[in-house]
Amino acid sequence: MARCLPAAPAALLLSCFSLLLGLAAPAGAAAPKPGLLKEASQLRDRALADSDAWQHAWSLTTEVGPRPAGSAGDRAAVTWALTRLAEIGFDEIRPQPVEVSAWERGTAEARIIRPFPQPLVATALGRSVGTPEAGIEAPVVRFENLAALEAAKPEEVRGRIVFIDERMERERDGSGYGPAVQKRTRGPSVAAARGALALVIRSVGTSTHRFAHTGATRYEEGVRPIPAFAISNPDADLLTAQFAAGEEVELYLHSSARNLSPARSANVIADIRGAGKPDEIVIMGAHLDSWDLGTGAQDNATGVAILMETARFIAMMPRRPERTVRIVLYANEERGLDGSRSYTAAALQSEQRHVIGIEADGGAGLIYRFDSGVDEEAFPVIDAMREILAPLGIEGGDNSATGGADLSTLRAEGMPVLSLRHDASEYFDLHHTANDTLDKVDPEALKQAVAAYASVVWIAANVAGDFGATVPAGE
Ligand SMILES: [Zn+2]
Repeated sequence: MARCLPAAPAALLLSCFSLLLGLAAPAGAAAPKPGLLKEASQLRDRALADSDAWQHAWSLTTEVGPRPAGSAGDRAAVTWALTRLAEIGFDEIRPQPVEVSAWERGTAEARIIRPFPQPLVATALGRSVGTPEAGIEAPVVRFENLAALEAAKPEEVRGRIVFIDERMERERDGSGYGPAVQKRTRGPSVAAARGALALVIRSVGTSTHRFAHTGATRYEEGVRPIPAFAISNPDADLLTAQFAAGEEVELYLHSSARNLSPARSANVIADIRGAGKPDEIVIMGAHLDSWDLGTGAQDNATGVAILMETARFIAMMPRRPERTVRIVLYANEERGLDGSRSYTAAALQSEQRHVIGIEADGGAGLIYRFDSGVDEEAFPVIDAMREILAPLGIEGGDNSATGGADLSTLRAEGMPVLSLRHDASEYFDLHHTANDTLDKVDPEALKQAVAAYASVVWIAANVAGDFGATVPAGE
């Protein structure tokens, strides 16, 4: 209403007039009605007291285990999800077939030859090729970061093993990950283009223990693929110290990793059908696949578990939401977003409109902040959501949320997003390592998460008006 005050610019006044004349419906959502806020706060309190997302995470990590895309564990996870979702009270559950890239880790070995023999804790990077059968034994050249390698002359690199030493910074919002991950995704191609035999990176993680951090890499077209490994931070420290001491460092590397032909997997989609606007979708996304070194507890069994439990509480409400609340458990986030791309391609052909999305893929730390990525017109709804979240210790953030990796393909089409930010200070000690196991998960923190997701999703699924563009684009 403030926009219809006399101080409003001419263009806004025009739209105010057309509203008064009933020429155009308001695109944005008005503040939620008190009854809806009351329902949302009751749902929040019930979820905080009684939810048990931990049980879903226990089941996925204990009864299925690691589930890299295309593996037997991945297929077991799809079956697990279809079975478990059927116990929750959805109106419709279906698998959406997805072709996924497949890769076999095999075994990896890395050890120092010179200045003294010492085994290193190492892991192959996802999608890396293996070494020749006899392994690779060569002198090592160290670079402070990827930019230094990019600036190197081929003669510094040719015939050597490249070691990129760049560290990841520990941050509450996990923002150290994006910059540090560049050396993992691009490093092998940059090193190979300069004639390197193999690449070793300092793990993209913050653990000070001897855990190596895996994660996907990719080879640029036209570049000869070279084997790529990550070593634990303490092992990287050792190499660094040896270089600082002026030693010549030589490594032995062996890996039997290989890329396989594409495999079949599936997104798992489940709907709580909207009572008033069933073709308007509020989508909650989490990836079902995981890396294989641990059991993928925080990446991403807890994300899956939080959303399943959120849906269970929404399904237990005395009435159905106005809009359809949909959970999508995505295939192969880790090695290439295959499930995300398949889902969005189908969504663009659909009659259903994706009104807003939220993704759970940030670990199991307490949620401390709530961000949005919506049109300004929807700010009154975001303000109301913030009020509902405040008693959970969650502060309001900004409007620069981009969604998560799996929702990025819908976001790119214009879909608005919400983002509940988990405290990631300790997440990257575990993420993508053998140490990502269930014992690190605090069941109480999951209760807070379910309370937060359930209350904001309930508001989004019932409030009048949109949050901005919808996917596919509405009228
Ligand atoms: Zn993840």
